[in-house]
Amino acid sequence: MSWERTDYDEQSPCACGKGKIIKHSYYEDDDWGRNRSGFTGIEIQCSDCKAKYHYDSITRHYSCPSWEGNGFYTKEYLVPKELKIPTVITAKTIFGSGFEEDIVCCLTKKDLEDAVIDMQLNKYSTRVQKDQSRKIIDICNKRIHVRSLKRIIPILQEIIANYEQYEWNPVTIAEYKQKEADEIAKNESNIADVISKSYELHFSR
Ligand SMILES: [Zn+2]
Repeated sequence: MSWERTDYDEQSPCACGKGKIIKHSYYEDDDWGRNRSGFTGIEIQCSDCKAKYHYDSITRHYSCPSWEGNGFYTKEYLVPKELKIPTVITAKTIFGSGFEEDIVCCLTKKDLEDAVIDMQLNKYSTRVQKDQSRKIIDICNKRIHVRSLKRIIPILQEIIANYEQYEWNPVTIAEYKQKEADEIAKNESNIADVISKSYELHFSR
């Protein structure tokens, strides 16, 4: 199956208003209904703006249902030549990938030790008393389809024995998130600063 390509030019006013910016764009689609688009070049057709600015853009991700788009939007600017818009930093949301990591991520070693005692004492998954025990049973049920405490307890004991070897636990995650929040705040303030000195482009055909 081949891609069908359409090339076209778009233009936007420049920052001083005396010239324009030309974007050489394309749109491609195929028989499967897939499509993709992009551009191959930008021309600043204004000598004043060309001396002062270069083209730059910023792309952000947002959550939306798939039928409302791909979850990305891009804003384009003429940015002073000596500046560049920093890349957006997005917060990390996934810590670890395995089933054991799911447990370690949300429970401290003490939580796990207490859960083992609770499970040994109450013997059945329906009778456990502590929230963390119910949470662990829920994770085991969802991830490995195991509800029996006889099988869960040895898994937990193994995790407890190796607890320090897991990179992400509630403490390291909290530390990471704090540091990340500071970095994101600083980065967002740098982005806002560059954008305040830039001129936003609005392309149309
Ligand atoms: Zn201009």
